[in-house]
Amino acid sequence: MTRLKSWSELKRRQFAGAWNACVPAGDMGRMFGLSEAGVYAVRREFGLPDRVMPRGRAAVLRDAAINKFADHRRCLMCNETFRSDGPGNRICRGCKDTPAWREGQTDYSMVLPDGRKGEGR
Ligand SMILES: [Zn+2]
Repeated sequence: MTRLKSWSELKRRQFAGAWNACVPAGDMGRMFGLSEAGVYAVRREFGLPDRVMPRGRAAVLRDAAINKFADHRRCLMCNETFRSDGPGNRICRGCKDTPAWREGQTDYSMVLPDGRKGEGR
């Protein structure tokens, strides 16, 4: 990262300020003309500390990641298309409200990676 030597004192301070304010690396990349990996490289070069994300922001980012998988999927019980939260969400809201689903009297359940059966939501 030799181009760092050309950074002005102001730019360096802005970078450190944005880093410490927990601005997401992608946004910092756009601000400073770097790739996301470049942001982390500069951060290492500056010796900036790991940042601890405030709980609220971490939750927002996690939800955004989950929502990437949201899509319209066909319900496995009634075969209607519905707005699904992700690949594991295959039963529509209406079917989950039926006593049959809530009491587990269906052929469908989610199998967790360790082989246990998960609970429907
Ligand atoms: Zn359904």
